[in-house]
Amino acid sequence: MPFLNFIAGRWVPPGTETYFENRNPADPDDLIGSFPDSGPADIAAAVESARRGFEGWSRTPAPVRGDVLRRVGDLLAQRKDAIADAMTREMGKVLAETRGDVQEGIDTAYYAATEGRRLFGHVVPSELRSKWAMSYRRPIGVTGLITPFNFPLAIPTWKAFPALLCGNAVILKPSEDVPHTAHILVETLLEAGLPPEAIQLVHGRGEIVGKALVDHPDVTVVSFTGSTATGAAIGETCGRMHRRLSLEMGGKNAQIVMDDADLELALEGILWGAFGTTGQRCTATSRLILHRAIHDRFVADLASRAEQLRLGDGREPGTEVGPLIHENARKKVECYVEIGGRERAELVTGGSAPGGRLAKGWFYRPTIFTGVQPGSRLEQEEIFGPVLSVIRVDSFEEAVAVNNGVRYGLSSSLYTRNVDLAFRALQLLDTGITYVNAPTIGAEAHLPFGGVKQTGNGHREGGWQVYDFYSETKVCYLDYSGRLQRAQIDTYGT
Ligand code: NAD
Repeated sequence: MPFLNFIAGRWVPPGTETYFENRNPADPDDLIGSFPDSGPADIAAAVESARRGFEGWSRTPAPVRGDVLRRVGDLLAQRKDAIADAMTREMGKVLAETRGDVQEGIDTAYYAATEGRRLFGHVVPSELRSKWAMSYRRPIGVTGLITPFNFPLAIPTWKAFPALLCGNAVILKPSEDVPHTAHILVETLLEAGLPPEAIQLVHGRGEIVGKALVDHPDVTVVSFTGSTATGAAIGETCGRMHRRLSLEMGGKNAQIVMDDADLELALEGILWGAFGTTGQRCTATSRLILHRAIHDRFVADLASRAEQLRLGDGREPGTEVGPLIHENARKKVECYVEIGGRERAELVTGGSAPGGRLAKGWFYRPTIFTGVQPGSRLEQEEIFGPVLSVIRVDSFEEAVAVNNGVRYGLSSSLYTRNVDLAFRALQLLDTGITYVNAPTIGAEAHLPFGGVKQTGNGHREGGWQVYDFYSETKVCYLDYSGRLQRAQIDTYGT
């Protein structure tokens, strides 16, 4: 029995009557299920229903909307282990990480629930007598949410929960690589009491249904997380349509280790930052900028520790690194390993797929290149796999220049015991997030998340800031003077 879309309050097959298969990346013989390979007509039906859903949901008081999201958080918490297991099966990352992914959704739900009792506007003194001036937040309309594969639950919740709390209707187009987790999320929202037409789920390919969602004139807000190339295409369409758009895209994040750093701490940080989630995090550390004085010793220790990382099925106890998401992701990694060779970087460890019992899945060994030149393709381009490029520098200033010399700007990290350098790094590293003495990965749900340059377009997910994105500010003036008072007229000296 195939999985279905959720449109107009019902689980329905796609108009195309075609489906795609979702398989376990650790063992592609394991078929998780078939999911709708939907078409533009399914998006049209979802938008029509979402417009109706918006009418009722936008008039529901915000604290009541918050209560629904609190129940969603409770249900996710009750089902955390089962959801994490399903997520690891379809996406590959280890159970500790998928549990963390669910926890991020729980935290986002509880934050949203409390925001239902804030959602503050402003009351501001007017420049005129007997006049009241204030602003409040209004819902906007139908939001189209397009999400990537690497955080199958957390990223949809980062978008859907604040969008719903603000009173909007949601259409979710999840990554075709992780449709099962999206199905579970929508089931949970409905069970928690969300009015059915406030949420629609349309599965399918990005270039078909993702594009149809972005192209639809009645979708008033689009929020996208994924690759910079896809985000650029969506940005062009939304620009032409004057549509509100949030983009969260690629990264090429660096960890800098200075010669005064706690080297064991820095080593643990880089192992986790570079090879956690098999390097498939937007915040993954793909560059290690090492001070010359500690370079050789650090690389030797790092290579031997990377070789000890246990690859395997993320659902097996003891596994530290799971598979890549699919065959094409592994081919991309292989392609960059070849590029590294052509660019004369030195392959220190990895550089191949494991054999034996792991030969079936999309595994790749943690891979480290040294002697990587700033400006080379290996150093500049997002690989999204377990490949780390090491760059040797002579000074803090050079490290900052290397860090900033890429087109992306999501996350950065500095390991040092020098408090002056730490504060200088917070100012100089050109990224949306900087960590001191911690790896480049690991966001907290109550803080804004996002990047600069070609990683984002200025909006943030998470924290308090995302509520500005999903609501419209309306300014209201009430004049109780009983006479015409003219603002923007120069009355000084009269
Ligand atoms: P992707 O761009 O291939 O796909 C993301 C989503 O966009 C999917 O749902 C896909 O179906 C859809 N899509 C594809 N083409 C489309 C089109 N033409 N129109 C509309 N939608 C379309 O990305 P991915 O491989 O799933 O995820 C990896 C990327 O996501 C990496 O670049 C990573 O850095 C980025 N990412 C960024 C953040 C962040 O917050 N900055 C977080 C996670 C992932």
